[in-house]
Amino acid sequence: MKKLSVIGAGSAGLLAAVQGYYSFVNMPDWEVELIHDPNLPPERVGQGTVPGIMNLLSIVFDVDWADNPFDATVKHGIMYKNWGKKKDKFFHPFGMGYSAAHYDVNKFREFILSSNKFKVVEKNIKNYNDVDSDYIIDCSGKPTSFDNHTTLTNPVNSVLLGSSEKEDDLHWTDCVATPDGWCFRIPNIDSVSHGYLFNKDITSVEKARENFKDLFGIDSTDNLNFSNYISNQFIIDDRVCLNGNKLMFLEPLEANSNPAYVQATNRYLSYMLGRMTKRQVYDEIFSYVLKIQNYLLWLYQSGSKYNTPFWDHATSLEFEDNLFDGLVGLCSHRSMESLWSLMDNEDVPDHYGQWDLSSIKNWIQNTK
Ligand SMILES: Cc1cc2nc3c(=O)[nH]c(=O)nc-3n(C[C@H](O)[C@H](O)[C@H](O)COP(=O)(O)OP(=O)(O)OC[C@H]3O[C@@H](n4cnc5c(N)ncnc54)[C@H](O)[C@@H]3O)c2cc1C
Repeated sequence: MKKLSVIGAGSAGLLAAVQGYYSFVNMPDWEVELIHDPNLPPERVGQGTVPGIMNLLSIVFDVDWADNPFDATVKHGIMYKNWGKKKDKFFHPFGMGYSAAHYDVNKFREFILSSNKFKVVEKNIKNYNDVDSDYIIDCSGKPTSFDNHTTLTNPVNSVLLGSSEKEDDLHWTDCVATPDGWCFRIPNIDSVSHGYLFNKDITSVEKARENFKDLFGIDSTDNLNFSNYISNQFIIDDRVCLNGNKLMFLEPLEANSNPAYVQATNRYLSYMLGRMTKRQVYDEIFSYVLKIQNYLLWLYQSGSKYNTPFWDHATSLEFEDNLFDGLVGLCSHRSMESLWSLMDNEDVPDHYGQWDLSSIKNWIQNTK
């Protein structure tokens, strides 16, 4: 028998265990277990997904829009408000044939942990040697030190959280530019979650709180600071693969975390099955995360309706990537349907990180 142990029951660990289960479903010589410490609570945020993840969940758990135990609300895309100088608002659609979800992270965790798809062990892991398995995916949360990490460039590093009353017409994530950054508005079954993202080195938390109240009517006492980073060593002793906040973090614009964890786990599973080398895994994960960094910076470069110190800073952040420049050039000169039809062309990369060419085109036509 071969065994994969996933440490952690936050978004990253839950998804990794589900992916492991699904990959090995026709390989009876593999087993998956998830180990977590119930006394160490996972992050409370992370409600928004992208389409592929919901497909995986509906296949593995036979859940759907009418019947799911994690209070999923539909996410048809992202509504950008106040971004760019051209329009007051525009939509980043997933396409009318696709959708994703927002969900209650606590109910999601309870559901996955009690699904019996894999063994669940409640234990605090102090040392990887205490885990008797061939491979480990460590999703035990934020690193205790950032010494061996690369800082990723991003203009926000703090968030105020809050919630308001349910809104019946919110079928996507709202992403509202503000003088200090941007604010997500996520529909829940009975409320709307807000996250007011800002840069604490530009805007004091008191000022952000005041603006959050003025713009959205929300009093927030909950403030989280974060760093944007990726670990420099994400496979340890050829056996332990880091994922989730242990691997990387970038602010939540475009709900990039869960898709990045899924991509990383896919590569780790290929490595465990001998289908990818360690070098390939490193190169592909690092390159994928840099693409997220770059794409988010590109969105900020379009600015917003605000001319403030935050937006001066955000629009000044640069990156270099000839591949991305080429894709922007391609998307600028072609119509949307021409790009869709190109996506079957093997000579043209159809994705940049989690984004297909239509996402790039959509941003160009709404902001440039
Ligand atoms: C404001 C905000 C909004 C966000 N919104 C989104 C979003 O909409 N979509 C999205 O994809 N992402 C979003 N994110 C990112 C999301 O929060 C992260 O993806 C998520 O927190 C990842 O957490 P994790 O699973 O790595 O670790 P955690 O959630 O911290 O979980 C760690 C787990 O490890 C266990 N553990 C820890 N130490 C041990 C140990 N020694 N032994 C055993 N178990 C242990 C804990 O019990 C816990 O189960 C957002 C982030 C922020 C800050």
